[in-house]
Amino acid sequence: MDSKNDMRFTVEMTLGKLAKWLRILGFDTIYAADITGEKLIDAAKGRILLTRTKGIRDLKNAKERIFIASNHPFEQLQEVVSVLDIAKENIRPFSRCIQCNALIRLVEKNTVRGKVPDYIWETRDVFHTCSCCRKIYWSGSHVRRSRDIVRRLFK
Ligand SMILES: [Zn+2]
Repeated sequence: MDSKNDMRFTVEMTLGKLAKWLRILGFDTIYAADITGEKLIDAAKGRILLTRTKGIRDLKNAKERIFIASNHPFEQLQEVVSVLDIAKENIRPFSRCIQCNALIRLVEKNTVRGKVPDYIWETRDVFHTCSCCRKIYWSGSHVRRSRDIVRRLFK
């Protein structure tokens, strides 16, 4: 069986918030925002497909399909964690870009000067950038909120 740390997902169009949360937890997640039918199955090759569509029978190369029942993003995340028996040790929070799914890396504070608001640059010390879309991340209220959710998820 594959290591839980290497679980990769493809998430159906209707589950955008769930896709975002999986990226926050550090999982490689394709969000199939405008992909349906055959192409969705292709995008799930070698991945776990998360779907709200009961009709998909032919999995082709997808590893597994999980039907998500809840309408609520946090409960959807709980469903995934529960079905796959994901533990806190399996996640790597804040290691991945929420926007594009690429890994983010720590950068020197000086390199982001002028690229983030002045008050942020003056009050924060730790910055990460996305290796793909170059989005800059710093710790703030959204990170605190995310930490709370991780705590609720694995309490
Ligand atoms: Zn990015």
